[in-house]
Amino acid sequence: MKITDIRWTRAFIPIEAPLRYSIGSHPGFSRIIIEVDTDEGITGLGECYTGNSREGQLADLKPMLIGEDPMNLERIRWKVAPPSSVKLFGYVLAYAGIEFALLDIQGKALNRPVCDVIGGKIRDEVPFAAYLFYRYPNANGEGEICNAEQMVAYTEALIAKHGFKTIKYKNGVLPPDEEIDTFIALRKQFPKHRIRLDPNAVWTVTTAVDVARRLHDYNMEYLEDPVWGMRAMQRVNAKAPWVTLASNMSVFAFEDIGPTVMSDVLDVVLLDPHWYGGITRAKLAGQVCEAMGVDAGMHSGAEFGISQAAMLHLAASTANLTLAADSHYHHLVDDIITGRFEYKNGAMKVPVGPGLGVTLDRDKLAKYHELSNKQEMGMWSDDPRRPNRVITQPKW
Ligand SMILES: [Mg+2]
Repeated sequence: MKITDIRWTRAFIPIEAPLRYSIGSHPGFSRIIIEVDTDEGITGLGECYTGNSREGQLADLKPMLIGEDPMNLERIRWKVAPPSSVKLFGYVLAYAGIEFALLDIQGKALNRPVCDVIGGKIRDEVPFAAYLFYRYPNANGEGEICNAEQMVAYTEALIAKHGFKTIKYKNGVLPPDEEIDTFIALRKQFPKHRIRLDPNAVWTVTTAVDVARRLHDYNMEYLEDPVWGMRAMQRVNAKAPWVTLASNMSVFAFEDIGPTVMSDVLDVVLLDPHWYGGITRAKLAGQVCEAMGVDAGMHSGAEFGISQAAMLHLAASTANLTLAADSHYHHLVDDIITGRFEYKNGAMKVPVGPGLGVTLDRDKLAKYHELSNKQEMGMWSDDPRRPNRVITQPKW
């Protein structure tokens, strides 16, 4: 089998209300959908982060991939995405989207789901966290979340609808005093739920330690990236050793795992099939964590259904990925695949169809591509409500 063509399409799908995080806000989610054609008539689906640089990378990689056998993943990785070019020139995200498509082709050729192609599944469904954000009101003036009361009410509705057992509270948006109040309000309302915090490295070490101290008795599942960089994470760990520390910002590439583990600072590494260069690489990273006694979770970067499927197959086949995974999926109002993934008791079923197990809805792709021409956003989304903002890191 030979790769004959690679095509990609940007798409923008609206969300319930604009999400806020430490650096900016998401007005909706924008992604690039990738299609890889073969001479046997099988087309594989992939998906990656959006942006002009990503489209340029796909254009760079395309001529090197035409004529390659999609079953030959190891050769292809070394040909177009060796560690040096991935790390130094940032090709990892575009390559990861292609790797999803190649695995989709392999699964379709073998008539088996991707999780079987990468070693078989260890679980049939994957638990996810209720991913909470502060939000701006949407165009109808609805959906705003800007205080503890609104966050608790929103979380109650979300858990009633989807059955989540774990809560991820994305913070780093409001002053830490207000966010501590919200964490305590969530803990009181949901005494049995696991609750994790992620301020996206916008705190000083002093602030992170202060928050850890004030939340000492409120049973935090873990604190994710309170500060920027491994040295600062080491200092938080030294000053607040009772806190479980997680990261997808200080450690986000294969080469980061060894030094991270050896420094004995992190308890949880958040895997991501995009950032680690594909499903197979993220699974391998998970196995390194297994061997090193570090827990594995899964990061989410505002995916559509194709990436969601990739994450489900990864989680299905990675035994030690036992923590509830993160997902932005419940914020989307629609998808570009036929049908949509659904939560039941806070979990999603792993697709069983051949390949990734999802089918592109071409009408929806066309509709949301059209929308992407009207409302494009880059890799780091802007925050129109805070023009000329300069977000320092740390901020508090
Ligand atoms: Mg994070």
